[in-house]
Amino acid sequence: MTAVARVIVDVPSRETDRTFDYLIPDRLSGWVEIGTRVAVPFGGRTLQGIVTGLGADAEVELARMKPLEDVLDAITPLSSELVQLGVWMSKRWLCPLTIALQAMLPAALKGRAEKYVFPAEGAEWSDEETAQSGGLLHALRKGQPLKLSGLLQHYPEHGDLLRRWLLDGRLEERQKVEDRLSVKTVQTVFPSDAETLKRAVAELPARAHKQREVLAYLADQPEPIGVQRLAEAVSTTPSTIRSLAERGWIDIRAVTEDRDPYADRDFPVSLPMQLTPAQAAALLPINDALEQRSNEVFLLHGVTGSGKTEVYLQAIQRCMESGREAIVLVPEIALTPQMVERFKSRFGARVAVLHSRLSQGERYDEWRKIREGRAQVAVGARSAIFAPFSKIGLIVIDEEHETSYKQEESPKYHARDVAVERARLHGAVVVLGSATPSLETYQAAVDGGRPKYIAMPERVADRPLPGVRIVDMREELKLGNRAMFSRELAEALRDRLDRNEQTVLLLNRRGYATFVMCRSCGYTAACPHCEISLTYHRGSHNLRCHYCGYAEAEPKVCPSCESPHIRFFGTGTQKVEEALAEAFPGIRVIRMDVDTTTEKGSHEKWLTQFRERRADVLLGTQMVAKGLDFPYVTLVGVLAADAALRLPDFRASERTFQLLTQVAGRAGRHELPGEVIIQTYDPEHVSIDSVRGHDYKGFVTKELHVRRQLGYPPYGRLIAITLSHESVPMLLSVGEQFAMRIREKAAALGISSDFTEPGRAALEVLGPVSSPIARLKDRYRFQCMVKYRGDVDASFLASQVLQEMGDAVKRGGLQVSVDVDPQMML
Ligand code: ADP
Ligand code: ZN
Ligand code: ZN
Repeated sequence: MTAVARVIVDVPSRETDRTFDYLIPDRLSGWVEIGTRVAVPFGGRTLQGIVTGLGADAEVELARMKPLEDVLDAITPLSSELVQLGVWMSKRWLCPLTIALQAMLPAALKGRAEKYVFPAEGAEWSDEETAQSGGLLHALRKGQPLKLSGLLQHYPEHGDLLRRWLLDGRLEERQKVEDRLSVKTVQTVFPSDAETLKRAVAELPARAHKQREVLAYLADQPEPIGVQRLAEAVSTTPSTIRSLAERGWIDIRAVTEDRDPYADRDFPVSLPMQLTPAQAAALLPINDALEQRSNEVFLLHGVTGSGKTEVYLQAIQRCMESGREAIVLVPEIALTPQMVERFKSRFGARVAVLHSRLSQGERYDEWRKIREGRAQVAVGARSAIFAPFSKIGLIVIDEEHETSYKQEESPKYHARDVAVERARLHGAVVVLGSATPSLETYQAAVDGGRPKYIAMPERVADRPLPGVRIVDMREELKLGNRAMFSRELAEALRDRLDRNEQTVLLLNRRGYATFVMCRSCGYTAACPHCEISLTYHRGSHNLRCHYCGYAEAEPKVCPSCESPHIRFFGTGTQKVEEALAEAFPGIRVIRMDVDTTTEKGSHEKWLTQFRERRADVLLGTQMVAKGLDFPYVTLVGVLAADAALRLPDFRASERTFQLLTQVAGRAGRHELPGEVIIQTYDPEHVSIDSVRGHDYKGFVTKELHVRRQLGYPPYGRLIAITLSHESVPMLLSVGEQFAMRIREKAAALGISSDFTEPGRAALEVLGPVSSPIARLKDRYRFQCMVKYRGDVDASFLASQVLQEMGDAVKRGGLQVSVDVDPQMML
């Protein structure tokens, strides 16, 4: 019997989105299982692939089948459960399976084919050629195949020689799939026993002072020590130490070492807290479900400061006591050291942390800690949902409403949905926590009973929610106040300065970027490649496109009417910072935005400074709104609260309400009571007015009403199909066909296109229309929106149409992107 592996090859296209069969050669048998990463020959190249099935028979004749070239890992990186999850994802979000599987692997394991060259059998070179090659031939003749890219780097002037010899067959080429990164190893000295060391000292020549010192050091401290570290300790060179190894007196071996990003930090130990009655009541059903190993989903709806984290921690504790593992997802932006510390303090080294601010190597090592069973809790952003655990008991998603749980590139998955599916495969419990649940989750809990609803409507220790005041900026203007700060906010700020308390200032910048406008003619600077306003950058005095990176110098006169009255509008954090310094001389401000937080560790640095009260104000964008817990923050101010309400997105109201509630929740979390001041031009708007009374239910009731009428989520679902091309007529004609074919298919199945009749299954296709971002990188973009409700497999219909039209799309050079359950209207 011949063993065959079904392999998903890493070519991310719809045409190759199927398995290919390969023979498992004898030397690799026993190494190949479902989830194994392999190197395979494919179309003349060597590519990485993942085994998704094993069998004895094959789709093509065995004689024609090629063997696997290599197995790339000693420990299979994906379990068969993760492969199964990948298959589910590819159907759910209509993406090639390889893309779903790649999303589960750490970036370090995305192998690329590397070319190696070596002399062919019997190849000969003349003396002249040898001389001409300046050492290149000498290197090649040593016998080891050498990496082509390395040779070209070393001998840039001999690229043509290499090419010639490859062509005339004297050099041969072989491909090998290699990872960009691997396990970090450290050359480590293992001292011999005392006897040997003593003998060594006796045998050393008298002049060998340094070598003696090394031996003395080792005799004194006979633990293994890194070569580099030992060299530093006795101030000598690694080669001195190596020479001792060559004489057999000590042993040097490569030892793997973890790049632990938190290694140099001490986390104070925290013990479980005495739960408040509300927390205990919330934990009870979660623990019950854990005990019974039932696949429950809970919505923990707790106001800011209600103590949700402690509930998570104690549920995790219970989960681990039963020998199972837990995943905790937090939004990337909230993955501050403060959040990490709460988990590290409670569970210590058993916690692995995964987020994008770690280096690739650090991420890989944290991932291996999980894969190799050295961690039982994974805390991380979106992709931590793929933590390679094998016995998951609990998945927590904190701030479940956050948009960052949806990935905007393919696979366009939502971590919340993946969590629910993964929990099903493990019989695990899911806890979705939020002070402002997404309307989808809330409505499902209230109407459908899954998730089960748990409420914590009060803060711990009877601390009140902060009072919220709304300031109408139109009134301020009428009264002659043109400043950035209303009189109320300015007064409250001064108050905090006097009392030595702290303030968080949020500048809601989504949809409110700084843009350049001519006051004479209304010209605005836009990117020549994308239909997007350019953003003004003060530091470099240029205008930049945040989508494609295009940049140009700041114009001195209007390019359209030559008026000198061209200036930038909108408020950036820098401008607020300047206004603060002007209005409150001596004020200490920490500004946190994309510009000040690019450097590694900068988040941590700013937040530590703020916590130590070395600043009065923490000013920033969205990143100051979430997860922070500082006892001396008694004032939260919001500038431009309504800026994001005008975005062409039906979730704009929901997002604004959530953001305002979140940031309001930063005030008065400890003994000192808090206060919130929100500045707006639209005080009656339900998203803003509802924040005043912390009125989630009031907001939701009104907003759900609107959604129901429009058939938008949670009362209907959407699939966005975006087509892009240089030519608009081409886009329109293909777009029309798309829309028509989907409509036809739905009609053939007897699905109505009428949404007015309540409860009935329906489907309609809106568009094609120009996308909100109408042009990107010189390509126009058109969108068809499939809106459907009830028992309709719209994904299947869409994928059928995509397949049928595949050729036309390909021939025309169109790009198609499909977003199932889109979160952002782009
Ligand atoms: P949330 O995540 O719901 O906004 P947190 O979990 O951050 O709230 O808790 C708010 C504050 O209350 C934190 O400072 C936390 O340490 C404290 N806290 C939580 N539970 C308790 C408890 N049972 N007893 C005392 N303090 C608590
Ligand atoms: Zn002008
Ligand atoms: Zn651009």
